[in-house]
Amino acid sequence: MNFDFGETEKAFCEKIRGLFDADSRAALANLESGDVNDIRDATMKWLMVLGEAGYLTPGLNDGKNSVGLTAIQESLSVISPALYLTVEVTARIFGRLVAVYGTPDQKDEIIPSLQEGRLIGAVAISEDAMNIENDPLNTSAVNNDDGFLVFGSKGHVVNGPIADWIAVAAKTGDGLAFFLVKKETEGLSIGQRLSMLGYGGLAVSRVSLENCPVQSNYIIGPFDGKEQLKTVRMWEDQILTVSSLGLIKRSLNAALTFAKGHRSGNKPIIAYQEVGFKLAEMVTLFQTARLLTYRAAWMAETGDREATVLAHCAKVFCAESAEEVASHALQILGGQGYLSGNPAEEAYRDAKYLQIAGTSSEISRMKIADGVLGDG
Ligand SMILES: Cc1cc2nc3c(=O)[nH]c(=O)nc-3n(C[C@H](O)[C@H](O)[C@H](O)COP(=O)(O)OP(=O)(O)OC[C@H]3O[C@@H](n4cnc5c(N)ncnc54)[C@H](O)[C@@H]3O)c2cc1C
Repeated sequence: MNFDFGETEKAFCEKIRGLFDADSRAALANLESGDVNDIRDATMKWLMVLGEAGYLTPGLNDGKNSVGLTAIQESLSVISPALYLTVEVTARIFGRLVAVYGTPDQKDEIIPSLQEGRLIGAVAISEDAMNIENDPLNTSAVNNDDGFLVFGSKGHVVNGPIADWIAVAAKTGDGLAFFLVKKETEGLSIGQRLSMLGYGGLAVSRVSLENCPVQSNYIIGPFDGKEQLKTVRMWEDQILTVSSLGLIKRSLNAALTFAKGHRSGNKPIIAYQEVGFKLAEMVTLFQTARLLTYRAAWMAETGDREATVLAHCAKVFCAESAEEVASHALQILGGQGYLSGNPAEEAYRDAKYLQIAGTSSEISRMKIADGVLGDG
C-alpha cells in the first residue's frame, strides 16, 4: 500500500491553496450571510479560477476516486466547506455523470464549459420519502413527441437555486434515467433557498417538475437496475468524506492557534494538561480520519475488492470525527468559540450534514456489516 503524494501532486495542491489569499478566504466565509445572487457570483468567479488551475478535470473521465484526486479536494475543503461542496457537486457529480454516462453530443456541449468553470451543475435524486436504499423513485417521465415530460419533486438539491443544469433522476417505462434540465425550462420550478443548520454559504432548494419537457438528446440512460445510482452515491460519499477532513482541519487549526495565544491564569491555556489532552485527541482523530480516507481512495484506485466497505468506514468515521473534533475545539475556544462565525462553531454545525447526506451513518454501518458478512 502506498498513498504518498508525488512531487506533481504536492505542487498541484500548493497551487490550489495559493489561489486563496486571506481576503478571499474572509469573503468566502461571509457568504454565509449572503443571498443567492452573491453565492452564484462568488461560485462563478471561483469556478473560473479553479478551472484555469486545472482543478475541475481530475477524475472526470474515468469516474474513479483516487489518491491524487483526494489530495486536491482536501486542499479546497479546508479553505471553504461551502465552496468545496458547490464545486464538487458541479464537477465530480454532475460533470462526471455526463462525462462517464453521457452521449458524445452531451459531452461536447457540457464538458468543455464545465472544465473551464463556466457552468454550475446540480444532481437531484433523493425525494421526500425516497433514499437510494429503500424506495423507488416517484419522479417519472412519459414519452411525448420529441422526448419526455418529467413530473416529480426533489426535497433538497445542492446548487438548486444557482445551477445552470440539473440532472434529475426519474423512472421511465424502460428503467431509470437522468434528465438534463436547463435552468428556466418551462415546467421546472426552483424553490426558495432553504435555511439550514450548517453549510451556510451553500444554496440548497427544492426542485419540482411539472410537465417539464426534455428532448431525447438530453437524457442519460435509461438504465436497468440501480447500478448508476449507486455509483453516483459513491462519488457523493467520497466528496462528503473529504469535506469531513476539511472541517476537522479547520477546527484543529482554530483550537491550536487559540490555545497557544490565549492566556488564562498567567499562562497560555495549551500549558494546561486538560487542554493538551483534548488537542492530542483531536490530532489523533485527524490523522486517523486522513489515513482511512486515503486508504479508501487507494483501494478504489487499485480496484481492491474491499474498496466499497472501506469507503463506508471512512465516511462514517470521518463524519463523526468532524463533530467530535469541532466539539473539542469549541470547548478550547471557550466563550469565544460559542460566538457565531468562527471555524470551530461552523464545523460543529456543518458536521451533522455529513452524517445525514449521501449514505447516512446508519445505512453505512449496515453496509459495513453486510460487507463483513461477505454480502457487500
Ligand atoms: C442540505 C441537504 C442537501 C441535499 N442535497 C441533495 C442533492 O443535491 N441531491 C439529492 O439527490 N439529494 C440531496 N439531499 C438528500 C439527501 O441525500 C438525503 O437527505 C439523504 O439521503 C437522507 O435521506 P432522507 O433525508 O430522505 O432521510 P430518510 O431516508 O427518511 O432517513 C431518516 C433516518 O432514517 C434512517 N434510515 C433510513 N433508511 C434506513 C435503513 N434502510 N436502515 C437504517 N436506517 C435508515 C436514516 O439514516 C436517517 O437517520 C440533500 C439533503 C440535505 C439535508
